Amino acid sequence: MTSRSGKPLAAAAIAQLESDGVATLIGTVANPAGLIHAKTVPLRRMSTFAEPGLGASPVFHAFTIDQVGIVFSDAISVVGDQRIRIDLSTLRILGDGLAWAPGAFFDQDGAPDPYCSRYALQRVADRLETAGLTAQVGHEMEFVLVGPDGSRLPSLMWAQYGLAGLLEFEGFVREVTDSANASGVAIEQFHPEYGANQFEISLAPLPPVAAADQLILMRIIVARVARRHGLRASLSPPPFAGGVGSGSHQHFSLCRDDTPLLSGGNGARGMTEEGESAVAGLLAGLPAAQGVLCGSVLSGLRVQPGHWAGAHNCWGTENREAAVRFIIGGPSNPHGANVEVKVIDPSANPYLATATILGLALHGIDNRLPLPREVSVDPSALTDAQRTESGAELLPCGQAETLPALDASPLIRGILGDEIVDAVLAVRRYEQKNFGELPPEELADRFRLAWSV
Ligand code: GLU
Ligand code: MG
Repeated sequence: MTSRSGKPLAAAAIAQLESDGVATLIGTVANPAGLIHAKTVPLRRMSTFAEPGLGASPVFHAFTIDQVGIVFSDAISVVGDQRIRIDLSTLRILGDGLAWAPGAFFDQDGAPDPYCSRYALQRVADRLETAGLTAQVGHEMEFVLVGPDGSRLPSLMWAQYGLAGLLEFEGFVREVTDSANASGVAIEQFHPEYGANQFEISLAPLPPVAAADQLILMRIIVARVARRHGLRASLSPPPFAGGVGSGSHQHFSLCRDDTPLLSGGNGARGMTEEGESAVAGLLAGLPAAQGVLCGSVLSGLRVQPGHWAGAHNCWGTENREAAVRFIIGGPSNPHGANVEVKVIDPSANPYLATATILGLALHGIDNRLPLPREVSVDPSALTDAQRTESGAELLPCGQAETLPALDASPLIRGILGDEIVDAVLAVRRYEQKNFGELPPEELADRFRLAWSV
């Protein structure tokens, strides 16, 4: 392909990037354990990284969170090679000579790889499109600042959501905001959270794949700025045992031909009939989905009642203890009505988490599932009878419960594909086998930086 001037497009793009100071290109992929892997090329090799891509062993899908493990199987062994191809349409400049683009896995002949999480999400987005639907997804990123060795930082000047914490880390906050602006990441808000040295960044909604790409980019930006300040950002679901957890909540909305499904209808809280069924599908699938959404060996320490982590399987308007928090559209909510899935944590692969929740919503729509009754109180305050009536049971949260439920779900296997579900189960079972017996303090200490980049 050539541009109108006849100059090859790639050469023109490389020349432009060169003049922007870029020398090195980073491509990233996310694996079933929620780890982010990367390769780099010098800028002149950009086109090759895009196509045919760079070689990578299939064991990328089987790397575990302990820095050393690989879970071999019949399908994933030392033999074979795949290609990581970056998506140049999403390339962003990071500064300091670096640019970044998200990658996806392909086989040697250029066919998408069934283990690829970005492709799994694209497949779900395509299924939505075939059904006449579009989705927008907005990510939240909670993290805790720690020392380079994972140690707890002082927090004498910290109040929940307090100004003091913001001023303590003013330089960090300013540089993250500047870098996000420079790289084209749309931060909606950035604030100190409830836990000591914990922050949250909310990102603007985008189509599903672009939204997950944007979250990866945001993690890279936060990590680079944190390093410059001698800090690290912990993305562990329970950064410190017994303390406040970090979620990776995802919001989504759906439209049919530009008509929203979650507002303007005659159903509950203004949902259309299809909107109700989408939420119903999500709720019906959550118990089996936990292994994907919050399936790490540490995840169960976070998803507890009273932690605003959505431990109960119910929906409620602005209910922060419900697994599905419904947010009504209106003047104070310019993006329109949406639902927030609170159970997702940062140990999850964000592409797979989105694929799962949107796949469940589509299943609900396809099968016209009826919406359970809204829970408008803290579900812990319900009587047993009320809880049963609204279906607001506690979600499975420890790996001993979440992994068998995932394994046995034809629905989630259908959404993600057997290859991906089996790969998720393999890396999570490894965690369970090797670390499942560790006491919470040891577990939190050991994996505080496991998902940090
Ligand atoms: N940090 C909480 C979690 O673990 C969420 C707090 C909030 O609602 O923002 O999910
Ligand atoms: Mg929060």
